[in-house]
Amino acid sequence: MDSGIYDILDRRELNLPNFHIPTTHPRARSLFVRKMLVEGYKRGLVVPEGLIAHGRGEAFDYLLGEATSSIARVAIKAASSTLMLSRCPVISVNGNLVALCAKAIVELSQLLGAKIEVNLFYRTNEREQLIRKELRNFGATEILGTSLTQDSIIPELQSERRRVDPNGIMRADTVLVPLEDGDRTEALVKMGKTVVAIDLNPMSRTARSADITIVDNVIRTLPIMVAMVKKLKGIRLRYREKVLRKAVWQFDNRTNLLKSESIMRGNLVRK
Ligand code: ATP
Ligand code: MG
Repeated sequence: MDSGIYDILDRRELNLPNFHIPTTHPRARSLFVRKMLVEGYKRGLVVPEGLIAHGRGEAFDYLLGEATSSIARVAIKAASSTLMLSRCPVISVNGNLVALCAKAIVELSQLLGAKIEVNLFYRTNEREQLIRKELRNFGATEILGTSLTQDSIIPELQSERRRVDPNGIMRADTVLVPLEDGDRTEALVKMGKTVVAIDLNPMSRTARSADITIVDNVIRTLPIMVAMVKKLKGIRLRYREKVLRKAVWQFDNRTNLLKSESIMRGNLVRK
């Protein structure tokens, strides 16, 4: 299975102005992703703090070898299965995620019948609308969490991330939170939600408190998840549920995180 960024580099699908890094450059992929975020920043989707958060993620990605591990793939299968078995799955999105993966988010939501909800730490009406517009450009029809006139509040949280849509995250049984804050992950778990996180840092509060954490870069994970869900949906109906339940049942987040940490430690010794 190929990841999105390889596709982007090969097909040069993205229209990034003044970007002339040759695809043979050893850091081409990483520079390309930075450029996507900077463009997202210039367009108002990403806040400056989001660029810093990405930098912290990059450091972990470097340790990971900038590739999706077999360990992450196990988590991706468990995550995809959990989302497919859910009654009311919701994908929570922020600015960085939309700047990097808008196409895959929309595709995944359509495949899963999952709602998309905008949830921002630095929430402004203008950013909400820009993110909404970007997702709509990629084919999303219903986007929750923007212009929240009737919001629900996640107890215990102080930040703007506490405001959620009563028809989205508040009602969800499973929430996919790529790029999440630890305190909100903890709060969602306390509310009884099944939380699936994507986080390059296996030591973060998000990674540790989620039910399933995929330790990988969102830009690689989401297209793989799309392909995984398609594959699982291809299984004959009478066997499918068994396969999905087995992937969920066999998964242990703590063990999976330790394995990802071990990959990083191994690379550190070799480097
Ligand atoms: P937590 O809130 O879970 O305790 P934190 O406060 O250390 O963690 P934040 O500042 O909330 O982290 O978010 C930055 C984190 O997001 C990074 O450390 C990284 O793990 C994760 N991250 C950033 N960019 C990506 C990306 N492209 N793919 C996956 N994870 C990413
Ligand atoms: Mg945080």
